[in-house]
Amino acid sequence: MSPDTILVAIAWPYANAPIHVGNLTGSHLPGDIVARYHRLKGDRVLMVSGTDSHGTPVTLRADAEGKPVEEVYQIFHNQFLDLFQKAGISYDLFTTTHTANHFKVSQSIFLALKENGYLYTETRPQWYSPAARKFLPDRYVEGTCYLCGFEGARSDQCDQCGNVLEPEKLLNPRSKADGSVPELRDTEHFFLDLSKLEPAVTDFLRARQSYMREPVLGESLGKIESEGLKPRPITRDLDWGIPVPVEGWEGKRLYVWFEAVIGYLSAAIEWSHIVDQPNAWRDWWTSPDGKALYFIGKDNIFFHLTMWPAELMGAGEQFMRIFAEDEGKLNLPYDVPANQFMNLEGRKISGSRNWAVWGLDFLTRYDPDSLRYYLTVNMPEMRDTDWDWAEFVARNNNELVATWGNLANRVLSFAYRNWDGQIPTPNELRPADRELLATIEKGVASVGEHLSAVRLRAALGEAMRLASEVNKYLNTASPWFEIKTDKSAAGTTIYTALKAIDTLKVLFAPFLPFSCEQLHHFLGYSTPLFGEQYTEAQTDALGAHNVLRYNPAPATGKWQPSQLQPGTQLNLPAPLFKKLEASIAEIERGRLGS
Ligand SMILES: [Zn+2]
Repeated sequence: MSPDTILVAIAWPYANAPIHVGNLTGSHLPGDIVARYHRLKGDRVLMVSGTDSHGTPVTLRADAEGKPVEEVYQIFHNQFLDLFQKAGISYDLFTTTHTANHFKVSQSIFLALKENGYLYTETRPQWYSPAARKFLPDRYVEGTCYLCGFEGARSDQCDQCGNVLEPEKLLNPRSKADGSVPELRDTEHFFLDLSKLEPAVTDFLRARQSYMREPVLGESLGKIESEGLKPRPITRDLDWGIPVPVEGWEGKRLYVWFEAVIGYLSAAIEWSHIVDQPNAWRDWWTSPDGKALYFIGKDNIFFHLTMWPAELMGAGEQFMRIFAEDEGKLNLPYDVPANQFMNLEGRKISGSRNWAVWGLDFLTRYDPDSLRYYLTVNMPEMRDTDWDWAEFVARNNNELVATWGNLANRVLSFAYRNWDGQIPTPNELRPADRELLATIEKGVASVGEHLSAVRLRAALGEAMRLASEVNKYLNTASPWFEIKTDKSAAGTTIYTALKAIDTLKVLFAPFLPFSCEQLHHFLGYSTPLFGEQYTEAQTDALGAHNVLRYNPAPATGKWQPSQLQPGTQLNLPAPLFKKLEASIAEIERGRLGS
């Protein structure tokens, strides 16, 4: 089978808050698991994302802290890089939207849409602050919701009733920056004519009906059927962001929702330049073989299943002409396996109320694979789930430690102690040995099938079920007693168990990369399972930005059954996971909301 060419495109986090476990399980972790699996399978993977640096949440935060916007976005951006490295989220490139490359790509998409007749201009009233002498972005204006009467509504959205609002209808408006009362003034903006693109977007969605997650597709099609697609403004009056590439439009910027999604494309292009293969991105983006998977939370479904395909289809072949003076059409998303939300101890995660488990903080006390395990078994694939600290401890101890970690450690230590640190040479395998190995090896196909279809909970559940098969086998064969009467029979049992563990290591590897890498070393391999993550600085006309990279070169892991040979020298084993005290649940709950 020839390798697939897979773009793993992961939601761009806003640069105004740290990342919590809900964000990780929503997009970054599932994307990473899928990327690691396809790399092991030998597919060509490009996994990209970056910091969404231009949203008004960032400028609001900068205003509140009295800092330059560049400084604020970089603080969060650098924290993201740190977290992804510590959690093993193996981006080929994690960059930012504040790069000269992203500016050029976004402006080219804009111009392509304009030349293809999908943009028009319209003058509309917008809130203007006479005190600050500037137009106020929607999020800068708060007031009373005209639908439900909630007094703390943002002008573009009400958090009480959940509706998207028409900003100029807001009642009792006030500026969030200084509390002054704004007035409505006329301003001209570009609009993306989504109504013209509605038939194309509907066809795009229907063509994916046989395999896309039902809640994801249902939401998108349902919205189009009930409301239709209406034109949306794609420019705004703001200083921070990407300039509108049209004469006379200085002082206006591209709307962040319009340009941030373009990051999937621009990041692939930036990666190509960094690795010095300027056209490599086209394998993922313009070759018909390129397959793009988008990992996002449900709050982003509309932007990724409606807006983004509309931008891509509207830009058509014109983008390549403008951007590269070349031919070609950009690939549409193949699948968008969006996740629902993870709540925390029965309540919605809220960063501002500190009702959150923060990724970096968590990793100061616990191991990344414990986090990845719990976030995967509890991933909100089809419905919302809940992070529960007592459950985190229980599943860590009863499943990760008891079923898998102890199995690996017990067998490795026993082999190491009794066979001079080597893998024992077996006698002819008995029916029970062969049966176990056949069962485990079938997992290469069954776990792989779940992973290919992005059913990650099912995939990990299947791997864990296979680990308990090895435990059952050992309970029956009992090599710890067998060795006292027949050492060579015990050697056959341990050889069989080590082969099974070596195969399971590959099946668990996309989920638990740190401990599987360690286990791989204990099993005597001298080259690593995975490549290496690192950060570096990139410089362009806008200044310097740090990026996270992944070097796949040292990786030798393969999605296949164990090839382990008798006589191989093992390395001194140690436990893969830590058992956690039940008392930490109460301690951790005590940190919430304070
Ligand atoms: Zn409301």
